[in-house]
Amino acid sequence: MLLEGKNVLITGASRGIGRATAIECARQGADVALNWFKDREGIEETLGEIQRLGRRAIEVEGDVALPESAGRFVSAATQALGGVDVFVSNAGICPFHAFLDTPPEVFERTMAVNLHGAWYMTQAAARRMKEQGHGGALIAISSISALVGGGTQAHYTPTKAGVHSLMQSCAIALGPYGIRCNSVMPGTIATDINKEDLADPAKRRYMEKRIPLGRLGEPRDVAGCVVFLASDLARYVTGASVLVDGGLFVNLQ
Ligand code: NAP
Repeated sequence: MLLEGKNVLITGASRGIGRATAIECARQGADVALNWFKDREGIEETLGEIQRLGRRAIEVEGDVALPESAGRFVSAATQALGGVDVFVSNAGICPFHAFLDTPPEVFERTMAVNLHGAWYMTQAAARRMKEQGHGGALIAISSISALVGGGTQAHYTPTKAGVHSLMQSCAIALGPYGIRCNSVMPGTIATDINKEDLADPAKRRYMEKRIPLGRLGEPRDVAGCVVFLASDLARYVTGASVLVDGGLFVNLQ
């Protein structure tokens, strides 16, 4: 029970890494507030699983790209749960596109959701934590893509480097309030975001071969790391980033 008594807010909790993180936080004793955008069925499933674990959970619909979604989410969570102890910025999109013909709207939407959305949400959660006066933990789901490139991801990788950098600056800005800020960098985790890309069996086998642990990641592999960073076990960890990639980054072969 690493998160007993804590209120955890997570964006993009209707599927994938966000859902697994919400469920693991609840399993560790947290009450949770869940942002989602389009997948009503998915968020109902996440809520159901958390309620079966006996924890309190609310869902708040909202496009993270809109600045007003951030205030609405944090206010709703504060009202329902009583405060904000941990905020996880997870919502993201990755519409694969060749660099030379990526249309401006794909670039702008990816920036708006992944980077601007993370920024607005982080600021709203941090303001609330400062008002409460007892610190907190902010965690951004960045990516191995913050460190390496991808020919069909030139609009995506800068957003992931951006949220990592956001956590570094926030660690400095918010340290005086006892608010810790870290990022998690998943490698290749099998979710809807890369389903199409990995549907080609040859591509999937190639990726698996490149990963020293011999398999793609699962959403719950990332959730465990988020729980650690959210918990008091990580009380002296801020401004850090943790790769959760089965060793992919260090494999040059
Ligand atoms: P996913 O299964 O496609 O889930 C994405 C989540 O983000 C969904 O819950 C979706 O909500 C939400 N979302 C998308 N646009 C949103 C918006 N405008 N406002 C609010 N929520 C929005 O993908 P995932 O793999 O779990 O990705 C989660 C995060 O991990 C992303 O930030 C991604 O960049 C990062 N990541 C993933 C991998 C990987 O290999 N899977 C690797 C590194 C980093 P709705 O469906 O309700 O719209």
